[in-house]
Amino acid sequence: MTGLDTFFNPKSVAVIGASTNPEKLGYAVVRNLVDGGYASKGVVYPINPSASEILGFKAYPTVLEIPNTIDLAVIVIPFPHVPDALRTCGQKGIPSAIVISAGFREAGQEGLERELELVQICNEYNLRLIGPNCLGVIDSFTPLNASFAAGTPPSGPMAFMSQSGALGTAVLDIALAGRLGLSKFVSLGNKADVSEIDLLQSWVKDVHSRVILIYSEGMPNGQEFIRVAREVTRKKPVVAIKSGVTQSGSRAVSSHTGSLAGSEQAYQAAFHQAGILRAESMESLFDMALALGYQPPLNGDRIAIITNAGGPGILATDALEKNGLSLARFELETIHALEQYLPDAASAANPVDVLGDAHADRYQFALDCVANDPNVDGIMVLLTPQAMTEIDATAHTVGSLARHNKIPILGCFMGEARIKSGIDILTSYGIPNYPFPERAANAFSAMAGYKSIQTRPDPEYLRFTVDQPSVKKVIDLVRAENRLSIGDAESREILQAYGLRIPKSEIAETPEMAVTIAGRIGYPVVLKIASPDILHKTDIGGVKVGLQNASDLRDAFELMVYRAQRYLPEARIWGCLVQEMAPSGGLEVLVGMNRDPQFGPLITFGLGGIYVETLRDVTFRVAPLSRQEAEEMLADVRAHALLDGVRGQPPMDKSAIVDTLLRVSQLVQDFPEIIEMDINPLMVYHQGEGAVALDMRLVLK
Ligand code: ADP
Ligand code: MG
Repeated sequence: MTGLDTFFNPKSVAVIGASTNPEKLGYAVVRNLVDGGYASKGVVYPINPSASEILGFKAYPTVLEIPNTIDLAVIVIPFPHVPDALRTCGQKGIPSAIVISAGFREAGQEGLERELELVQICNEYNLRLIGPNCLGVIDSFTPLNASFAAGTPPSGPMAFMSQSGALGTAVLDIALAGRLGLSKFVSLGNKADVSEIDLLQSWVKDVHSRVILIYSEGMPNGQEFIRVAREVTRKKPVVAIKSGVTQSGSRAVSSHTGSLAGSEQAYQAAFHQAGILRAESMESLFDMALALGYQPPLNGDRIAIITNAGGPGILATDALEKNGLSLARFELETIHALEQYLPDAASAANPVDVLGDAHADRYQFALDCVANDPNVDGIMVLLTPQAMTEIDATAHTVGSLARHNKIPILGCFMGEARIKSGIDILTSYGIPNYPFPERAANAFSAMAGYKSIQTRPDPEYLRFTVDQPSVKKVIDLVRAENRLSIGDAESREILQAYGLRIPKSEIAETPEMAVTIAGRIGYPVVLKIASPDILHKTDIGGVKVGLQNASDLRDAFELMVYRAQRYLPEARIWGCLVQEMAPSGGLEVLVGMNRDPQFGPLITFGLGGIYVETLRDVTFRVAPLSRQEAEEMLADVRAHALLDGVRGQPPMDKSAIVDTLLRVSQLVQDFPEIIEMDINPLMVYHQGEGAVALDMRLVLK
């Protein structure tokens, strides 16, 4: 056995803390091993120094006394004794342990230290651990219920991992109601050792699990999670719900990017890049998972609707279109066949309205026609319980078709009391039913989303030849002066070293120096206040563009320095930057980065200039960026039409933006000490003319 197999398919299980008292968790675990069917498959060893027998199994004082090998230990004893118990597991050579006991990281500093001790023991004995502070593990195919959950769920195609044990119990209860089946269930608890990443790697190979569900409250190894999930989602759909999405409001934010990007944006980007379908609610998590788990894949976006009522048909049409799907356009033969069979008042076009008096046979005919039409990728069957409706017979009809059909069929039997048995029948055929068309459409949309994830090209990572030593030199210099913020003047060198175009510029300490520099650069020039303490220069009149001659330049210099000193008397003023004036006709965009505590460098792209904060038309991706991801970012922003050229204008140089994004991605990968950066604006010109970084700022750790 390799990896995590002993957690799910152990030959023997020891329950440390097994109890004869039905009130105790240590009893519930043994009970579940019996009731869940494991006892007839593997061997159960209760560990309890003061009992000789528990639920008919011979008890042992410690695992060391057991004469045979043990694959899995379940530890349910008070926390002070857990480290010692785990150590005996190591000594016994047990490869895997589930620690149900609480009293670790979640219980403060002392608990955290105790948890670290567990990790150390795991490393020492090469032992894998799930938990602590968890509900346990279930594999319904083994079958194994090594948990204290109330009951064992029916088996099915969904593998569920949950950081919250309590939520896990709710999910198991839903499964017990019979509408969905689980292949595996893991309550991850504090994730001291085994995390979402390990389970993804293990479950992608599990034939019983067709869809993987994740409830997570945090991803400490965000970068690795993305890397692994990206591979897994090519083979199997993963749906996740993330709770606790809040803005990191407490941190002082010193850049545009910093104020735009929070943990929510990081999750959004990370899940997207990883190919994970994100559910906004528990309801939608299961809506998606049912379709992905029980139905064949959706290979296109053309959906047929069959309904016995007009209104729901319209609702379904709207919902499908809103979700980016389309209504299938039938072949003429399909329409003719439907017209011949259906009553005159029926609609033979999509949505097919079989009318309120339709019996099961009319549904059957319509279903057969539509399912055989090559323009149909999926079918939504709507049913309202009208007086003549044969609910159960129709459900059987749909079910029999689904049995031999290669395209997905989703039910939308609407109502509650009268349709209940119909839904049970659909469920028995593996057809998910949704109470409203919007939810069925959402499920189809998840299937379409998964298709596009599965078929997206392999990410291409480019590596540019750059000048790392120059960057290091600047950073060392800034650090030596105990500064964290790198302003325009110094970040220029950094960007240049990474191959970005920047305008010529030099710092002038006096008006006369400015005039000399301008002579070298050539008029018109731009003058900017140069100070490590001024973040937004325009706000204090610290930027003057289009200076045409020496006398204007001198005046601008005097005024700029005077104003800066007046508004910000504390600020250190180095002088003014005299800068080459970039030609007009460009579009100002923003390229930035800030580091997310979980996922690492988060790259921002958006329409730039002075409107960034007001319009917030920005998008995010986690670095390292692939070429495709950088291209996607451009298409993401609402104002992307401006990049394509409006009103007869030629398109902007998109490849120059992509290039900038990729170079910035490489820079922040190479220099983890850069924690925030902004290029705003990056002035982009028409296709073939490139882009220039006009203003930039970096912040060091
Ligand atoms: P800040 O963002 O600190 O206010 P910037 O350096 O970004 O200052 O300048 C503000 C605006 O001035 C830019 O958005 C751009 O429109 C214009 N600008 C700045 N530098 C140049 C330049 N070299 N050539 C042309 N326009 C410029
Ligand atoms: Mg700026």
